[in-house]
Amino acid sequence: MSALLQVEDLEVHFPAGGFALPGRPKRLVKAVNGVSFELARGETLGLVGESGCGKSTLGRAILHLNPITAGRVVFDGTDMSRGEAADIRKLRSTAAMIFQDPYNSLSPRQSIGDTLAEVLRVQRKNSGGKIEERVRKLLSLVGLSADLINRKPATLSGGQCQRVGIARALAIDPQLVIADECVAALDVSIQAQIINLLIELKQRMNLSLIFIAHDLGVVRRLCDRVAVMYLGRIVETGPVEQIFRAPKHPYTAALIRAIPAIDPDLSLPQKPLGGEPPSPLHLPQGCSFHPRCPAVMEQCRHDPFPTDRFIDGRDVACHLYPTAEPSLNGQGNI
Ligand code: SF4
Ligand code: MG
Repeated sequence: MSALLQVEDLEVHFPAGGFALPGRPKRLVKAVNGVSFELARGETLGLVGESGCGKSTLGRAILHLNPITAGRVVFDGTDMSRGEAADIRKLRSTAAMIFQDPYNSLSPRQSIGDTLAEVLRVQRKNSGGKIEERVRKLLSLVGLSADLINRKPATLSGGQCQRVGIARALAIDPQLVIADECVAALDVSIQAQIINLLIELKQRMNLSLIFIAHDLGVVRRLCDRVAVMYLGRIVETGPVEQIFRAPKHPYTAALIRAIPAIDPDLSLPQKPLGGEPPSPLHLPQGCSFHPRCPAVMEQCRHDPFPTDRFIDGRDVACHLYPTAEPSLNGQGNI
């Protein structure tokens, strides 16, 4: 599978809240702090980690919904980080986002039909009759009745609204969809329906999908590979089953141990994840996980963040593992 998306050393910094004191520089939150990964065509990558680790910011930066501070986002061979208007238009015509809150992500004043028709008009310039036909097809694709065309979001259930959100993303015939916690606000039974729908659609349309989630059980069902984020960095990436069955990074292991057994075969005993992530304004020196890490060593407190470890088909940012040989296939970097 060739790469559809390459993210290289991506940084997204925000000024911390409030005004800087005179003579003092404004403090920065490094929400995304040097992230690199690739996404193949047709691949589903799960992006996991605790709240505030930078998952959503990363997803939004890839689609240029957040400004990029440094690094590169190369989509389908074009370097989007140059910020050329024509490139970003091209990106938006073939990459879409599904948001967490199904109600707030839709305009309350627009009917469902108008919401979908607007995307079709902006992105595809279909003529009137064809647009209505396409809206009906999109509703059918996501398992909704065409009777909903004139309804407003407030009259739909959360699950129906999220299906509309998915239909809106699919309206542009995307190559890439980024789903940001798109089932988190739904009841468990509705979550299962939406996940089944995503599995069916990604197979049918050969979508590349970045699935941002904190529910690891859902990630395991849906994703081919997983990237684990901690405080703005990716600390481990690898094939989903390897990550779940034998996590290498102590943070990945702690995350998996913290959830009730999602599979009785998993050998790791359940254990809550101790402590809170430090403030992104005061990142620890060395490995940023060291204040919470059960395997911490002296070097972890001061040596630079380890970005070049590659073991058993996985990138693992941890001093427990030996330095990687230079990679020929681009997988040797985190
Ligand atoms: Fe733990 Fe050290 Fe590995 Fe960080 S580098 S995860 S502190 S062992
Ligand atoms: Mg988020």
